[in-house]
Amino acid sequence: MECAAKGARTRCLGPPVRRCARCGVVAYCSLSHQIAHWSDHKQECERLEQQMRNADMVNKFPFTFSEEATVRICEKQETRCLFLERWGLHQVGMWSYECSCGPLNISLNLSGLLMYWNLSSTFAPCTEPASPLSKQLSCWKEYYEWRSIPLDSPAAVVLQWPLTIYYALQLNATKGRNDQGNKVINIHYLGPDKELNQLASFGELLALLPQCNVHIELIGPAVPERRDGQRIELDRCAHCDDKDCKCKLTSERHSSKVTLQLHRGYYHDWFGDIVKDSCPHLIIAPNAGIAAYPSWKETIVCLAQLNLYTLFETAVTRNAQTFKIHSYSG
Ligand SMILES: [Zn+2]
Ligand SMILES: [Zn+2]
Ligand SMILES: [Zn+2]
Ligand SMILES: [Zn+2]
Ligand SMILES: [Zn+2]
Repeated sequence: MECAAKGARTRCLGPPVRRCARCGVVAYCSLSHQIAHWSDHKQECERLEQQMRNADMVNKFPFTFSEEATVRICEKQETRCLFLERWGLHQVGMWSYECSCGPLNISLNLSGLLMYWNLSSTFAPCTEPASPLSKQLSCWKEYYEWRSIPLDSPAAVVLQWPLTIYYALQLNATKGRNDQGNKVINIHYLGPDKELNQLASFGELLALLPQCNVHIELIGPAVPERRDGQRIELDRCAHCDDKDCKCKLTSERHSSKVTLQLHRGYYHDWFGDIVKDSCPHLIIAPNAGIAAYPSWKETIVCLAQLNLYTLFETAVTRNAQTFKIHSYSG
């Protein structure tokens, strides 16, 4: 988070410690920056306040898993590194991005990140579901049972991304915007971060939304330059570690696809171009209140003008606690 008045005439005095009391979204380094910024922020403040009220609803998302993975971590009995270690996942593949140690293996290649769970078949949803979904999933427990994986599997840590998309689509549908029957679902995904290295988990959308071609544009400044414009097609679930598991058979390939297209930059800069070829059914910004970052301001203005689409934004910044997860460990 940065001071909302950053880049103003005078330099920031330090980290943003003063939060706007009204919207609670923006923060300032000092009282003087807050006062100086008020004329800019005034209009936005009211809208943000409204948006944050909506965000409280979104915070009850059952499929967020962003902060801690298990009760033991929540209760500080175990660090994130130890938790991963226990599963043999510390600094391994896409799990490397789940703690601050970073990937050990520098040659970590992208295709590996796009293909492997690094878990045995018992713990990973690597094959087709035994039965199609018969009802909407509303919690992790239902999801795990449907996919026949034990409740203590760490898979949810990286499955929060596809499940959040799935759930947002369900919410959209209950709001009378029935996109579920669509053969093609276009999604604009704003501000992707570590999930850029966990895209294998997005393959789970094939199981969650069978018969749908899901097209996701991921747009944000965290997209590395060398991956700008990258297009990834997933037509099967990520592989487990078992050599003879049937997930490696060609029959596990889907006729539908999940397509991921990466763009480096801000949404407002890409918007015109992207909308030309994919009008979104859903715009989603799962990472911490983009509204809190001045650099996204234009995007928010642009979204507000649209008024056609639903923005699901989860606001970690305001209250990280709301993200405490249901855990089934032990
Ligand atoms: Zn400042
Ligand atoms: Zn405000
Ligand atoms: Zn670590
Ligand atoms: Zn599948
Ligand atoms: Zn497998």
